[in-house]
Amino acid sequence: MDTFETRWRQLDWDDAGLQINAKTPGDVERALNADRLSRQDFMALLSPAALPYIEPLAQRAQQLTRQRFGNVVGFYLPLYLSNLCANDCTYCGFSMSNRLKRKTLDEREIINECEAIKAKGFDNLLLVTGEHKTKVGMDYFRRYVPLIRNYFSSLMMEVQPLSQQDYAELKTLGLDGVMVYQETYHEATYHRHHLRGQKMDFFWRLATPDRLARAGIDKIGLGALIGLSDNWRTDCYMVAEHLLYLQKTYWQSRYSLSFPRLRPCAGGITSASLMNESQLLQVMCAFRLLAPDVELSLSTRESPFFRDNAVPIMVNSVSAGSKTQPGGYASGTPELEQFEPHDNRSPQEVAQMLLRAGLQPVWKDWDHYLGRVSSSGSLCE
Ligand code: SF4
Repeated sequence: MDTFETRWRQLDWDDAGLQINAKTPGDVERALNADRLSRQDFMALLSPAALPYIEPLAQRAQQLTRQRFGNVVGFYLPLYLSNLCANDCTYCGFSMSNRLKRKTLDEREIINECEAIKAKGFDNLLLVTGEHKTKVGMDYFRRYVPLIRNYFSSLMMEVQPLSQQDYAELKTLGLDGVMVYQETYHEATYHRHHLRGQKMDFFWRLATPDRLARAGIDKIGLGALIGLSDNWRTDCYMVAEHLLYLQKTYWQSRYSLSFPRLRPCAGGITSASLMNESQLLQVMCAFRLLAPDVELSLSTRESPFFRDNAVPIMVNSVSAGSKTQPGGYASGTPELEQFEPHDNRSPQEVAQMLLRAGLQPVWKDWDHYLGRVSSSGSLCE
């Protein structure tokens, strides 16, 4: 069956980078005035030529966001279930070659975490694990996803890519969405950074959103790890190609986008292409103009200053008070973090920031506030 791989093979990384860099102020102005962006328009908004236009770009992005989503911003929290991993990624503290204490939460510890997170007011949860299919695979998910689902009205996952059949089963157990970041769409760079384990298979990962959509998973999250390849503009363009392919092929699924930049971690590498905060803002605004209805999400990887500025412009969901190690909420265990969060403010402090910006923080399933229908077909509770 056809997957995004076919489209990916038609795309030329170097040519896309050259086209983006060749865009002119006139191309940017045309894109800013377009009702609907073409691929060329999107390239113009990603290009260096668009940086002087950040103000009108942000205004347009904000206008579209308020039109489509109103004033609400959803809150979610990641729950790290395990830091076991059978892969070796050059940029991640959980890599199997890193000597660190490994921890996988058992039933009692999961309950403790769920209760601690509920006590903070969160109702949208993102389950995160390293990628270890024998110890934290389908048996583990079968046992604990229904338990966790009882606590939360919306459940997303960021774990190893699974088969279509596994995703279909997890949907019946209460899974609403899956985040799967390609890390980079440049195959040679991908192989340089994924040294051992199943994650070495670039194409298995690339086809994961296809399997998710075919399994009927309601929400699919995409993104690239910005700074891994030596051209973040081209990687962001490839994310857009992936999104456009999925929207056309599986129109019944919903999509979300995240923009993680490399953060320091134990044994980690430094960025091959630095993206500063103005450029991150530019990219996020460009995606809002390309895909006005797609959810844009922003994690605590970014600074308080950036989040305070970006969220009111185009962001739909934020994390706050995140811990990136298993057991981080209930017991504050000192296991190694996957990465250092940059925004260490409490959820209440972030909620206050939103209120000051005239936005409504939403702790429950925020799709409900927009009258969206859940994966089960009924309005969310
Ligand atoms: S990025 Fe994911 S797969 Fe790679 S080492 Fe970290 S947890 Fe494992």
